[in-house]
Amino acid sequence: MDELHEECGVFGVYSQENRNVAHTVYYGLYALQHRGQESSGIAVAYANKIAYYKGMGLVAEVFAGGKLDCLPEGDVAIGHVRYSTTGASQLLNAQPVVFTGKCGKMAVAHNGNLTNTKQLRDELISQNAVFQTTIDSEVVAILINSLSDGDILTGVKRACAKLKGSYALAIMTCDKLIAVRDPYGIRPLCIGAADGDYIIASETCALDAVGANFLRDVKAGEIVVIDSDGLHSYMMDGVPEKSSMCIFEYVYFARHDSVLNGYSVYEARKEAGKLLARYYPVEADIVSGVPDSGNVAARGYSEESGVPFVEALARNRYVGRTFIQPDQNQRENSLSVKMNALRGNVRGKRVVLIDDSIVRGTTMKKIIKMLREAGAKEVHIRICSPIIKHPCHLGIDIQTYSQLIGAYKDEDGICESLGADSVRYLTVDQLLSTCSGAKTGFCLGCFNGHYPYPLDDYKADKLKLE
Ligand code: SF4
Repeated sequence: MDELHEECGVFGVYSQENRNVAHTVYYGLYALQHRGQESSGIAVAYANKIAYYKGMGLVAEVFAGGKLDCLPEGDVAIGHVRYSTTGASQLLNAQPVVFTGKCGKMAVAHNGNLTNTKQLRDELISQNAVFQTTIDSEVVAILINSLSDGDILTGVKRACAKLKGSYALAIMTCDKLIAVRDPYGIRPLCIGAADGDYIIASETCALDAVGANFLRDVKAGEIVVIDSDGLHSYMMDGVPEKSSMCIFEYVYFARHDSVLNGYSVYEARKEAGKLLARYYPVEADIVSGVPDSGNVAARGYSEESGVPFVEALARNRYVGRTFIQPDQNQRENSLSVKMNALRGNVRGKRVVLIDDSIVRGTTMKKIIKMLREAGAKEVHIRICSPIIKHPCHLGIDIQTYSQLIGAYKDEDGICESLGADSVRYLTVDQLLSTCSGAKTGFCLGCFNGHYPYPLDDYKADKLKLE
């Protein structure tokens, strides 16, 4: 594992009429594909039943060959794209989780990672619950059912009081669509509307993809129920005053055409590039981004410094984003298939290369080597985030310190390991200033070790799981 891994994307639609809602979800998931490429699924409510289809692979692959058209018309539907942070990458663990319980037919799709999964699962098993999968999303589904008195809202409220960790949920029954965001608002979730339909989505780019207007973000700690009476909002008890959204949504995970908490991801990334130029300038001939995630910041760096933006690396667009692939061996062998140096652009040049973050450092080391072999005279690395020093247990796949080059080395040590001419990172305050337009507080746990939920709880859970 050498790059940050995104967790998942969720999407849902409530339509005033019976129609082909599965198609709407399909296009929404397509726009959220960057959030997970291992599996995807769609569930549709029709005639008091729920039909669903799930498969391994990209949205387009899973629903090819007429699979999408096999789903019936309906008025409520949810969908999910997955990267596995808990549970193996296999079909059984694909979402939405669909089941029949006290509230009738239900489906649940989850983006995030619970930190008290083991404890909740043990409790539920002791109450005779049966689990089919190893994912925490099934724990959410069974918890809602076990705490419900036949009313879905009661079940969701009671379950949320017990959940710890990050969760942005899309839940459906045969006549309701429910959006839930954890009390810290760690993962994004927004609401849109189109032609009388309500849409919920992890990011606004998915609203755009289905022609929906953005209405608002789901608030941290909010449960939004959408049914034939319209949209109803309920707040959980004990929601902290300050939210803690994952700042990496701005740095890397979200698509750069999305707007989160009222602030454009593109603007945040461009500002990061400008700050890198302002605070960490270097004599150079060209500035370039590691495609695609470093490109916006590289343009910001160029604007601020006057150093021309020139592409140093070409990316094979038909290979998924490096970090999505779960198999380490594939990843080690495939960098040169995914990326290649543009020799004519870098030969004899002093290159500033911008990237969003460095995890283990092995990919960056190879990129620097690739640029030197292509004739680059100097390679200076500028990173749009602070050094990642701590694991993340809130939905990103960094679970141990040994996975992090920044856990043991400072900038000079990292520079030496990578074989760069210089390496500079934004500070925490500088990163926060790139997101100053966002109406939210931030989780900075992987930089400073302070998480909205205690790490000890997670460690204990992980030990028990092992
Ligand atoms: S620890 Fe880092 S990656 Fe994890 S949620 Fe917090 S900011 Fe995001």
